[in-house]
This record gives sequence, structure tokens and C-alpha cells, in this order.
Amino acid sequence: MAHNVLVVGELAGGSPTSTTLELLGGAQGLAAGGSVSVALLGTGASAAAAKAAGASKAFVSDDAGYDAVKAEQWLAALEVAVDQSGADLVLIAQSSAGREIGPRLAARKKTAVAMDCAKIEDAGGLKFTRPAYGGNALATYSIATSPAIATVRAKSFEEATGAGAGEVVQLPAAGASRTNITGMEKAVSAGLQITDATVVVSGGRGLGAPEGFKVVEELAAAIGNDKAAVGASRAAVDLGWYPPSQQVGLTGKVVNPDLYIAVAISGASQHMAGCSGSKTIVAINRDKDANIFGFAKYGIVGDWKAIVPALIEEIKKAK
Ligand SMILES: Cc1cc2nc3c(=O)[nH]c(=O)nc-3n(C[C@H](O)[C@H](O)[C@H](O)COP(=O)(O)OP(=O)(O)OC[C@H]3O[C@@H](n4cnc5c(N)ncnc54)[C@H](O)[C@@H]3O)c2cc1C
Repeated sequence: MAHNVLVVGELAGGSPTSTTLELLGGAQGLAAGGSVSVALLGTGASAAAAKAAGASKAFVSDDAGYDAVKAEQWLAALEVAVDQSGADLVLIAQSSAGREIGPRLAARKKTAVAMDCAKIEDAGGLKFTRPAYGGNALATYSIATSPAIATVRAKSFEEATGAGAGEVVQLPAAGASRTNITGMEKAVSAGLQITDATVVVSGGRGLGAPEGFKVVEELAAAIGNDKAAVGASRAAVDLGWYPPSQQVGLTGKVVNPDLYIAVAISGASQHMAGCSGSKTIVAINRDKDANIFGFAKYGIVGDWKAIVPALIEEIKKAK
């Protein structure tokens, strides 16, 4: 069935973020002959519309008042975009902005939102699949009201291809807000972000000491610093062995890489909530009964101190 899809875009450095392009890719498939529109708000939005591949129409405002996402301002503009686009499906990134906007937009439009979706398909009606029970199960929902709204995990769709939006519609400038942002701090994280990496190598408490992360970093570097980033379990982060920005899990980041290598991580449900969507999980653990092996495609039972250096050698030889 054809759908009119509106993607709520986000901008970084004047361009649509990679997640926005992925949502547009998903929208292209789901529209099935319907329309694909994108909403872009903040400085450079009009210029970014030309880079919003897959969208035929862009709803934009270049007002700098939108640069910091304040939900009440964004919602007013997005309501206009939803109405004017005739959307029956709204896709929003499962980002910190998206987590706030999704439910609030659904409340305003008196409809439902499916949060944190990993898959959306049209199988006799739109079906929204998201992890449940801390990632131990997948739940599939349909939404009876219109527009259906979904927040979507990064890397759930391939990026859109094709030309950017040909038609640009201006949205109103940002209105007043009761929110006052008093300061912003950029998280210091050099190199590739764990949410963008195609390979994530994560270390856990079983590394025994912060120095263990040096070896995990060596493994990531052997795979390639352009592909691999280093994550950590909460236990390791809480011990101060690795920065909170790298934590994977329910209270950390959700990653969906092609390959997730878990080194000395038990695989608690709260950790798996952040990585169970990975295409392939490899686990290294000395406990053959560790929960992580229930999720891993490939498991290595043994001491990481012997296995990881051997893996690094093999990867170097193979290059
Ligand atoms: C509300 C809530 C939210 C949470 N959010 C998160 C979250 O976002 N992310 C998260 O990760 N956790 C989260 N947790 C914590 C979670 O429950 C676990 O405690 C945590 O994931 C355990 O981390 P770990 O696997 O590194 O440590 P452990 O559970 O201690 O596991 C260490 C593993 O290392 C193995 N090991 C030990 N030595 C070696 C060795 N030499 N070689 C190989 N293997 C070895 C052990 O067999 C064991 O399996 C949350 C908990 C709660 C209650």
C-alpha cells in the first residue's frame, strides 16, 4: 500500500545526519508510490534540503532559534509539516531529540508512537518491530491511528540514494519557548563514534583492570580505526575504566554494527539492550555458560589475555 512518509530530519554541520539519510532510505521503500517529505529545522536547513536524498519535498526553516532542539518550538513546526505533507507515517531518529519529540508529537496528533524501532515493514499494514524485555525479545506492533509515528534506531535502513528535495516549503520561525538552555558541552570522543562504526569492540569487567582496554583498543586499531570503535559495559564504565560516552546498553548507547565483539562481558540483558541488533556478535569469555553466548554467532571460550593478542596477530597477518 502507498504511504505518505514524513522524515523528521536532524542537521550536523549544515547537512542531514547519516541517520536522517537512513530514514529517508527507509521512507523510499515504505512509500511504495506515495510521497516522501523531510522536515529540516535550523541554520542551513534550506541548503540541506538539496542533500536530503530521496525526499521530493522539504519543509524547512533556517531560523537559528531551532538550532538547539527545544521540543515545544520543534513540535509547532512539525505539526505544520505533518498536516501539509498529508503524512500517514512519520519517521524520527531514536536520538536524544527524537526520544523527546516522538511521544510529544504523538500526543499532539492524538495518535500512537512506536519507540526504538529496529525494523518497519509493510506486511498487510505497517508493522513496527522493537526490542522488548531489555533486548531479550522482539515485539511487533501495528498502529491503528494516523499518522503512525515511529522513532527508529540508527542503521536500521540503508541510506537513501538519488536527488535531494526539489520542492521547498517554508515553515514558521521558532516561537517562544519556556526552555532556556544555559550551556552545552560537546562530549570529548576522538575518532569514530560507536554509533557510527561498522565494528564495535567492547570490553567488560572481566578485563580486570583499565589496562585491559589498551588491548581492546589494539584489536580495534588492527581492524582499522576507520571501521572500528571501542565500547564498554556499564560495569567497566562504573569502575572508571572507560568513559561513559562509550557505554553500550540500556542506560548507554544503542549500537547496530555489522560486527560486535564482546570481550569479557557477561551479556546481562541491560547490556544486550544496546547491542542485540548487531548483525554478528562474537563473544570472548572464559565462562562457557555466560549469557552472551546465547546471542553470539561465534563464541570463543577462554582467557581474553591469550585470545585477543592472538586475534590481533591473525588480523595483522591477513592484511
Ligand atoms: C537499570 C540498570 C541499567 C543498566 N544499564 C546497563 C547498560 O547500559 N550497559 C551495561 O553494560 N550494563 C548495564 N547494567 C548493568 C548490567 O546489569 C551488568 O551488571 C553489566 O552489564 C555487567 O557488566 P560486565 O559484563 O562487564 O561484567 P560482569 O557481569 O562482571 O561479567 C564479566 C564477564 O567477564 C568474564 N571474564 C572474567 N575474566 C575473564 C577473562 N580473563 N577472560 C575472559 N572472560 C573473562 C566473566 O566470565 C564474566 O562473564 C544496568 C543495570 C541496571 C540495573
